[in-house]
Amino acid sequence: MPKIVVIGAGPGGYEAAIRAAQLGADVVLIEKGRAGGTCLNIGCIPTKTLWKIAELYDQVKESSTFGINLENPSIDMKAVRERKDYVADRMNQGVNFLVESYPNLEYIQGTASFKDEKTVIVKKEDGEVEVTADSFIIASGSIALVPGFEGSTLDGVLTSTELLDLDYLPKSLVVIGTGVIGMEFASIYNSFGTEVTVLGSEVLGASDGEITKRIQSLFKQKGMNINKGYRAEKIEKTENGLKVFAKNKKGKELEVEGELVLMAIGRIPYTEGLNLEGIGVETDRGGIVTSEGCKTSVPNIYAIGDCVAGNTQLAHVASNQGLNLVETIMGNKPHINEEVVPAATFTLPEIAQVGKTEEQLKEEGIEYDKSKFLFSGNGKAVSMGETDGFVKILATKDHKKILGVHVFGPHANDLVHYGAIAMSNDLSVADLNKTIFAHPTLAETFMEASHAMLGASIHTANTK
Ligand code: FAD
Repeated sequence: MPKIVVIGAGPGGYEAAIRAAQLGADVVLIEKGRAGGTCLNIGCIPTKTLWKIAELYDQVKESSTFGINLENPSIDMKAVRERKDYVADRMNQGVNFLVESYPNLEYIQGTASFKDEKTVIVKKEDGEVEVTADSFIIASGSIALVPGFEGSTLDGVLTSTELLDLDYLPKSLVVIGTGVIGMEFASIYNSFGTEVTVLGSEVLGASDGEITKRIQSLFKQKGMNINKGYRAEKIEKTENGLKVFAKNKKGKELEVEGELVLMAIGRIPYTEGLNLEGIGVETDRGGIVTSEGCKTSVPNIYAIGDCVAGNTQLAHVASNQGLNLVETIMGNKPHINEEVVPAATFTLPEIAQVGKTEEQLKEEGIEYDKSKFLFSGNGKAVSMGETDGFVKILATKDHKKILGVHVFGPHANDLVHYGAIAMSNDLSVADLNKTIFAHPTLAETFMEASHAMLGASIHTANTK
C-alpha cells in the first residue's frame, strides 16, 4: 500500500489522513500545534461558540416578549472564555480520538521540514525523526495578516486569535476589516454590549447585495458604527485606548477610537520552515502554487486548503480538496463536486450563500429568474420571533439550473444546503418541487421560494 505523509492536522490535513487510512494507505500525520488546526482551535468553532452565546444573550434580552421574566442579564467574559475553551478542547480531543482509531495512521507531534522530495525531518520535543513516503500532502494552513503600518503592533491591537482569548468585555472595539471574520466579531461584540466601530471596504462584499444592505441597517439599529470605503493607515495610543487613522479613496480622513482594535484584514498562507524552495515546490508570496488535482510543481507533493496560493480560505474547501485528492492518490475517481461551495457567515442574523449573487450574474451578462420567500411568512420563524430575512433562489430562465441560493435569517447556514445539494446534483426547480417539506419548519421557506419560482407559492399573496 502507498505511504502518505500529511503535514498539518487542520480540517484539510486530518480529514485527508483519516480518509487515506480508511482506503488502506500507510499514513503519517504530522502536526506542530493542536489537532484540528485553525478551524477547531482558533477559528470556526471558537467563533461559533461566541456567536451562540451572543445569539442566546440577544434572546435573553428579549425574553419578556416570550413571557419569561429575567432581570438584568449580563455577560461574564471569564465564563464565556471557559465555554469557548471547553468546546475547542472537546473538539480537539475528538480529532485525536478519531485519528488514534486507525492502526495504519501514525500521528506525530512535531514540526515537519522537507529534506528532499521523498523525506521530511520532524522536529519533536524529544529529538528528530526522518519520515519517507511515496506522496506528501501539505496542509499547513494560514496565519492572520498583520499590516506593516505605524502602530499595527501596539498593545491592544489584536488578531482574531488574541480577541478569542479575551476574558473581559471591552467598552469599545474598532474592527479593521469588513470581511467575514471582521463582521462576525463586530456582530458578536455588538450583541455583547461593546460599542463597535468597523471600517473597511465593502461590508461582506462577497454576499448578496440585498442582504448586505439589510444587515447593515440592522447593525446600525443595534448601534454599530459602520465606515465603508476606508483604509486604516496608522494607529496611535491614546489616554483611553487606541486611535485609528483612516482615509478613503478621495482622501477624506477618518479618526476612530476604541479600547481595543481587531485587525481582520485577511489571512496569508503559512509555509514557513517547510523548506519548499529547497525541494523546488513553487510558491507565490508564501502560498503554494497548485494546478488541477492539488498538484504542486513536484510530482509526488500535493497541497490543499489555506496554504495554497489564491485558495478560498474555508474549512470545507480544505477538507473536500483533501478528500478528493486522497481518492485520486489511491487510484479512485474523486466524487465531490468542488465547483459548488456553500459559505456560512455567522453574523446575527446569519447569512449563507451558494453559487452566484445577482451582482455577479449581471456582471457576467447571465440572464436569470429569481424568487424569494420571507421568514415573516413562515410559522416556525414567527413562533421563534425571528422574522427578519428571506430565502432567495436564482435560476436560469428555463428554471432547469439553479444558479445561486442566498439565505438571510434564522438557521440560514443550515438551510443553504438544500441549494448546495440541488446545485451539485444539477437539479432543476421542478425537481426541487417534488419534495414534501415537514410543517412547521424553517425549511419550508426554501420550499416556498422554490415554489414561488413557478408562481406556486401558497403563502405568498397574489399580486396579479
Ligand atoms: P489550518 O486549519 O490552518 O491547519 C493547518 C495546520 O498545519 C495547523 O494546525 C498548523 O499548526 C499545522 N502546521 C503548519 N506548518 C506545519 C509544519 N511545518 N509541521 C507540522 N504542522 C504544521 N472557515 C469556515 O469554513 N467556516 C468558518 O466559520 C470559519 N471561521 C473562521 C473564523 C476565524 C476567526 C478564522 C481565523 C478562520 C475561520 N475559518 C472558517 C477559516 C478556517 O479556519 C480555515 O479555512 C481552515 O482552518 C483551513 O484549514 P487547513 O487545514 O488548510 O489549515
